[in-house]
Amino acid sequence: MYLSSISVPCPGVFYSTSARDGTLFRIRIPGGIVTTGQFRIVADLAEKFGAGYVNITNRANLQIREVRTQITSEVLHLLQDIGLASPTPGVDHLRNIMGSPTAGIDSEELIDTRSLIRKLDHYISSHAELAPLSPKFSIAIDGGGALKVCDRPNDIILTAVELGTQIYFHLKLNLGESFTNTSILLQPQECIDVVGAIAKVYLQHSAIKKENVTPYRKSPKIRLFEVLHNLGIERFLQEVESHLSYPLLRLPHSLGGLEIASSHPHLTRYLHLGVHPQRQQELSYIGVVLPLGKLETWQIQGLADIAQGYGSGTLRLTPWLNLLLTDIPQQYIHEVKSKIENLNLHWSATKIYSALVACAGSTGCASSATDTKNHALKLAEYLDQRVSLNQPVNIHFTGCPKSCAQHNNSDITLLGVSEDKYQVHVGDSDHESKFGRVLYQAVHFPQLPPLIEKILQVYIAKRLTRHESLREFANRHSIAQLQRMVEEGGEV
Ligand code: SF4
Repeated sequence: MYLSSISVPCPGVFYSTSARDGTLFRIRIPGGIVTTGQFRIVADLAEKFGAGYVNITNRANLQIREVRTQITSEVLHLLQDIGLASPTPGVDHLRNIMGSPTAGIDSEELIDTRSLIRKLDHYISSHAELAPLSPKFSIAIDGGGALKVCDRPNDIILTAVELGTQIYFHLKLNLGESFTNTSILLQPQECIDVVGAIAKVYLQHSAIKKENVTPYRKSPKIRLFEVLHNLGIERFLQEVESHLSYPLLRLPHSLGGLEIASSHPHLTRYLHLGVHPQRQQELSYIGVVLPLGKLETWQIQGLADIAQGYGSGTLRLTPWLNLLLTDIPQQYIHEVKSKIENLNLHWSATKIYSALVACAGSTGCASSATDTKNHALKLAEYLDQRVSLNQPVNIHFTGCPKSCAQHNNSDITLLGVSEDKYQVHVGDSDHESKFGRVLYQAVHFPQLPPLIEKILQVYIAKRLTRHESLREFANRHSIAQLQRMVEEGGEV
């Protein structure tokens, strides 16, 4: 059953990947929801086969790293039995289905997506013919609530929208460097058929020779967006429709595109951390910060104890590398907070650690120019005592432009460019750089913490309001203005 010899760019349970720090296994957690029993078993495996910790990924998967002992087929069968490995090993490399971590507990959501995600995952994992799909084939399902995943990079994005008294899922497709908002609306019960039909059309055209497809090729397998470019969206959708027994419903133009999809409040990234009321009266969820998405096995056991003792026995991993403890009765919030603290964890969205992201870095990845994880921790330690924030500041360390840990823009991106040196980016991209505008070219790490401290102090002193994010602040200044303010320590 163990298929580690098959070369795929993305790891799975059956398809391990070699990394600099040992073998890496990824366990798919559809929708990010894991039971305490499953979580404890993963902790036991990380203890026995790995280095005593797991990482949460930006698709809400669990990764066991530094595996140096062969994982046995008994373990793989156990993972299948508890629902943490696909019954069909050939499709286990396909990406986790992303869903809103607050599905079913968010008072703003239009529809609870949990059952749809479970059914779609079952569909994918029981269809061996989907195995030739690119391992990057990815789906997000957003219930239209406050904590959105519809802006995360995925091949297929289904977002709940309300039209009249009906709830539909709007279909958006990834075109590689942009997205197409198709005018297609799906009834919830149509989603699995339509995703299945998309996969079929994709596979039918995946044998096209690469030189006849597009210039976007980066993987040995054809990506869905390449097929879309090659066929054209309309023809692709017509072929999808030909696999269905009903016509696809198209959104009338008179409804003004999909502005209806964004009419609900939006929990800005990381503001799901801390304590939030659920749609269920008297119950709350607590967003717990996991520094750099890492959990040691004793912390996993402690969190499972809390979820079992005070919640409903499940935990929800998020694509922001943290997790939610849900269904906590009001009267136990204080007690649960102190138990989280006892695990050396916290829930505040405004600490430097709260929105700090780093890829594997040079200790785990041969492509990395820098030791991102250790540098990120040193930076956080330095800033923690010196800077006081009132809202999250997302700082992203990446060891190379591939940007595995975070695909969207951050407030500050630190791109490793050579040993111990980082290019400092701020705010949104100006189309010359993937990560935002370049503020400084190559900063030696020892100079980085005081420099970032100055940037944060300038932002805190000069922002328009307490609600302006660092990204917004950076976007409304030129690079020269920003550099001058940093040099003068905010006195411009
Ligand atoms: S972003 Fe680059 S350096 Fe970091 S883990 Fe990915 S491939 Fe490796």
